[in-house]
Amino acid sequence: MPFTGPHGHGLDPCGLVVVGNADRDWREQREQAFWCHFECFRRLLGDDGVLYIKDADFATNGEAADARAAEEAAGREGETE
Ligand SMILES: [Zn+2]
Repeated sequence: MPFTGPHGHGLDPCGLVVVGNADRDWREQREQAFWCHFECFRRLLGDDGVLYIKDADFATNGEAADARAAEEAAGREGETE
């Protein structure tokens, strides 16, 4: 089902995952995913600017992982033994 129309956003489809018992071990947690247009979620939240996910330069999970790996590699190169 395409997410298009007046509520469409470049980030759609969007999913919101609620993690119950988030302070417990993963096996003790419960998860439920909700699906919503990004704009509808933003309005529901009364977006006050905390949704930095929408910033064009906000890293994807892969980009963030690559950046962390690059920083780690640079840190190792800087080490002297
Ligand atoms: Zn909607």
